[in-house]
Order: sequence, then structure tokens, then C-alpha cells
Amino acid sequence: MAEKEKVSKALKEKLFLKRKNGYTRISEADEKACGAFAEDYKAFLDKAKTEREACAEAVELLKANGFTEFRNGMKLSAGDRIYRVNREKAVIISVIGTAPIDEGVRLCAAHIDSPRLDLKQNPLYEDNEIALFKTHYYGGIKKYQWTAIPLALHGVIVKADGTKLTVAIGEDENDPVFYVTDLLPHLATEQMTRTGTKLVKGEDLNLLVGSVPFREDETSEAVKLNILNLLYEKYGITEADFISSELEAVPAFKARDIGFDRSFIGGYGHDDRCCAYPALRASLDCKAPVHTVVTVLTDKEETGSDGNTGLCSSYLEYFIHDIAEAHGSNGRHVLSASECLSADVNAAFDPTYPEVNEKNNCAYVNRGVCITKYTGARGKSGTSDASAEFAGRIRRLMDSKDVIWQTGELGKVDMGGGGTVAAYIANLDVDTIDMGVPVLAMHAPYEAISKLDLYMAYKAFSVFIAD
Ligand code: MN
Ligand code: MN
Repeated sequence: MAEKEKVSKALKEKLFLKRKNGYTRISEADEKACGAFAEDYKAFLDKAKTEREACAEAVELLKANGFTEFRNGMKLSAGDRIYRVNREKAVIISVIGTAPIDEGVRLCAAHIDSPRLDLKQNPLYEDNEIALFKTHYYGGIKKYQWTAIPLALHGVIVKADGTKLTVAIGEDENDPVFYVTDLLPHLATEQMTRTGTKLVKGEDLNLLVGSVPFREDETSEAVKLNILNLLYEKYGITEADFISSELEAVPAFKARDIGFDRSFIGGYGHDDRCCAYPALRASLDCKAPVHTVVTVLTDKEETGSDGNTGLCSSYLEYFIHDIAEAHGSNGRHVLSASECLSADVNAAFDPTYPEVNEKNNCAYVNRGVCITKYTGARGKSGTSDASAEFAGRIRRLMDSKDVIWQTGELGKVDMGGGGTVAAYIANLDVDTIDMGVPVLAMHAPYEAISKLDLYMAYKAFSVFIAD
């Protein structure tokens, strides 16, 4: 090699941003750990398809790992492991640190709700001797993707007498599933001329639930009657009980490896369980932190974080105030000194659709956990935009602990955009930055992520809360 080339090669090595596939630099121990972590994660995905199930599963794991429910007035000291459940749909987890609480907490925030089809409050109807459920989709979906796949029904029904029923139909191999029909191509000439948003319309997302009439002649709505009779016999519910129910149709698929090399995981609800589970596991594995650790697994992110289980509500702030008081301190001071990783997914570069990304500033599969300084749309609207100082601190920390990470933003400027809970936590005067796993086919009924990126999210959250 000519002397000149040697110089430029050395200079490049020194000066250029390194963007390499994580598999070229991951340690043997970490590569092994990726595989084991992925197995645990897949089991969690299959058990926790809704926010309520993810919350319940988290509580099970918390109890098994020595966490107890926090009650107001409880005294707290270093090493204490506590949690608080918010209306069975969100959970805050905390491990008390050795440093004074006024030095702030290390927050990790992920969401456990995912796009799906919710039943309307009066869902059941019969049309031409077929019984169907009306739905209202939850979160941002491409509606046509939710047709012609098996769906399971999860949720709760509160009966007239106030008793609550929890259901999950369609997960067991012997269960029936539910189904949204689509037009056969032979008769879809008109449909196929529509634009994507109207290809399948919101009111077309009706679930097929039955077709057998009740055995009595001359009865109108005999199929609907037969369904209600089945539901009454099995669950003791009447049509009015749907009004006080939350029933969610979710894909009936199980999480599985994708690819000959098994490097991807396919599953429903990676957004944002592929960050929620690593954040949860990081808390479970955290023994004696310096700073108090607070991990929140929240609901309602997919619909804008409003409502009392979303992060626009005060429930996280109240918790910080409560643990501050337990230390004889002030929640406001704790928040101002705190740092947060908003643990949410980003879009992975997809070679089939390269045009939506700007290749120098997007996330790639297998390049590790993705740090996103800002999200938003139309000129950074609706984002918190982390400071250079905080981005610098996180970058130094990740490099010092051999976390494989990358940076990326969601798509080209003005291509679209999206937000996370980062802004709502930053609004509490907390230094906040987004960090999470790149996802292929985000918000589809079956999404894909890389095992390496998933494990690096766990490693990143672990070193952050331990710092
Ligand atoms: Mn998300
Ligand atoms: Mn999302």
C-alpha cells in the first residue's frame, strides 16, 4: 500500500463515524446471551399480548424476584424493591438506591399497549345469517393488514353485578379464532382502485364470530341469539355486558424465529414489548443501584398517551412524589435531577423500501440498540430533543460498557414521523433521550426484530440504571 493510502486509512479509522454490523464486534459471551435472552422474550410475548396481560406478567415476575407492592407511608431504604400497579394496565417498578434521592432517579419508560382491533361497546350483530363483531381499531394500523389472519380475543368483561371476567380466546390450539374477511381478487376490481387508506375501511374491520341459528323457527336474528346463548351458557354474560368490557382482537400468532440463521424474531407487539421486556428484566436483575431505579411500563402510548394509564397523566409524577416523601424529600427536586431513557422502538432500514429513509441517519438491523435524539414530524414538532450534553453522557456510558449502539431517526424529513413518551417525561424537567430496538414492519400484525439488537437494549438499560 502506498504511503499516502496508509495515511488516509489511518485517518479514516480515527475520524470517521463507525457504522458496522454488530456481529463483527460482539463478544462471544454476549452473542451466546443474545440467544438465551431471545427465548425468554418470546415466552413473554406469547403470554403478554395486551397491556393488562403484560402488566400481570410483569407483576408475577416482580413478586418472584422479591418486589413488594408500594403503599403510601411506607418507609424506604437502599435495596428496597417495590412496584405500583395503575389500574391493571401499567406498572411502575423501583429499586431504591444508596445515593440520596435528591440526586435523582434513573428512569426507563416503555409502553405495553400495541395496535389492535378493539370491540365496540355494542359489537354483536347479524347480517344475512352471519354473526359479526364491530370493532374500532386502536393505534396506527394499515387496516388491510388485519384481514384474513387468525385473531384472538383478549380482555375483561364487567358484568351487571360488578363481577369481572378475564378472557383470552384463540391462543390455545383447541380454541376457535376470529377473522376479518377480505374480498376475493376476482371481485376486487373496484377495491383495488382505492388508495391504501381506504382499501379496507374502518367499518369493514368486522370479526366473524358465528353462523349457526338458534333452533326455533320464525325467530329473527336467530344466529345472533345463538351466539348470545352460547356466551351466556359459557360466561354468564348478556349483550349489555359488552358495554362495560374491554375486548381486544390481537393476532393469534406465536412468536417465532425468522430466517435460516434464526437471527430475527417474528412476533405481535414488538412495539414496544421488545423494549418493555428488556427494561423489566434490567430492573429484576438490578440488585444494589447507586441511584434509585424507576421503570415504568405504561399504557396508551399508541393513542397519544392520554387517559389515566398513559404518560400524559400524573401517575408517574405522583409516584416520584410519593417515594421522595418516603425519604423526607421533595418530588420536584428529585425529578429535576433525574435522567430517563424513553425505551421505544425505531424503524429499521428495510432494503425493500429504502426510499423512506435517509441512509446516514436511520437505524439498521444488527447495529445494536438505537439512540434517537429527537422524534416528531414537520420540523421536530412534538419532540423533546435531548441536549447534546445528555446525548454525550449516554454515548460515553454505552461505549464504556461495550454496548453495541447506533443512532437513527424515523424516516426522511417530512416523510411522516411519529413520537414516543419522551416528550411527556422531558416536560417534567427530566433529561430524556429515546433508545430502543429497530423494528421491521412496525405496527403490522407480525413484526420482526433482530436478536442482537434486542439483547443490546437489555444491556443498555442495565448499564444505565446501574450507573
Ligand atoms: Mn412504540
Ligand atoms: Mn407504536
